[in-house]
Amino acid sequence: MDFRRKDRPFVIAGPCSAETREQVLETAEGLKNLSVDLLRAGVWKPRTRPGNFEGVGEEGIEWLREAGDKIGKPISVEVANTNHVELALKGGVDVLWIGARTTVNPFMVQEIADALKGTDVPVLVKNPVNPDVELWIGAIERLQSVGLTKLGAIHRGFSTFQKSPFRNSPNWNIPIELKRRMPDLPIICDPSHICGNRELLAEVAQKAIDLNMDGLMLETHRNPEKAWSDASQQITPMQLETILSELVWRNPNAIDLEVQAKLEELRATIDGLDRDILDLLIERLSISRNIGEYKREHNITILQHQRWNEILHDREAYIQGKELSQRFLYRFLEAIHEESIQQQTLVMNTKKMKE
Ligand code: PEP
Ligand code: MN
Repeated sequence: MDFRRKDRPFVIAGPCSAETREQVLETAEGLKNLSVDLLRAGVWKPRTRPGNFEGVGEEGIEWLREAGDKIGKPISVEVANTNHVELALKGGVDVLWIGARTTVNPFMVQEIADALKGTDVPVLVKNPVNPDVELWIGAIERLQSVGLTKLGAIHRGFSTFQKSPFRNSPNWNIPIELKRRMPDLPIICDPSHICGNRELLAEVAQKAIDLNMDGLMLETHRNPEKAWSDASQQITPMQLETILSELVWRNPNAIDLEVQAKLEELRATIDGLDRDILDLLIERLSISRNIGEYKREHNITILQHQRWNEILHDREAYIQGKELSQRFLYRFLEAIHEESIQQQTLVMNTKKMKE
């Protein structure tokens, strides 16, 4: 299974949960002629509170296998323990995925990895519920270390207490960091679990494509409103068709040589500017250290709130009407300020030690 396609992103679709044989077959039938590469359905559902629908279990795999064979597409389910892995493999599941609530737990991931040792089943690893890229990487490494090679990641957003239009905050910087750290690993975005509603799906899917992700997972149900789980975020196969047809598929490696040359030129400019910014920062910090020495000689505290406030207000006024957000400016200045205080402290302590 190659999660990277040359012509367009890889698409995974199917219901959140397998509910009945008819629901799985009918939903799959609707997906038959769409650009869908892999059929999904959960048969063991991790639910926040007990007493909700917890999945139909093993039987659901048979329905999914039947549906996959009928429409000629491979199938995938979520596994969370050794028993699930055994049943999924026995039932002919082509691709396994590890859910967000499992990725958070290294014991569980290791158990799954051990159960998969000796196979080379493709496995997709959803990000952990909490925004921790190390935990995500760690789960992938556990699978790599038992010899699995057909791996991919699924970005499904992160739990947050902050008020947000999303069910799970996308924190795009985290999958971007994953890509930087593991450049060969395909990353698939799951807009359904990020959004938690149907309205934002297209926008999030497009954003994922624009960020050069390799694919999309979109929950699809024959009758979303009546779904037994995640009803508010599922769409019909027809709605999926619309979303897919309206997406602008980007070309990650612009083949057109002229386009490529222009891009390289722009990138070279960025590289040069980054170096200039770093040189200026280094110069700025050396002045901070001089100030540190001066303050020490005259017995003045490192942090002077009034001066810090002045800096913030002055720089804020300076960017008025320019294309830089106040939020970025504050984060940038705070980072510089922190480094500056640290370097000044170092200067003071070194001098103290000499005395
Ligand atoms: C799912 O894909 O239906 C699911 C339970 O996802 P997650 O692990 O991302 O919550
Ligand atoms: Mn779901």
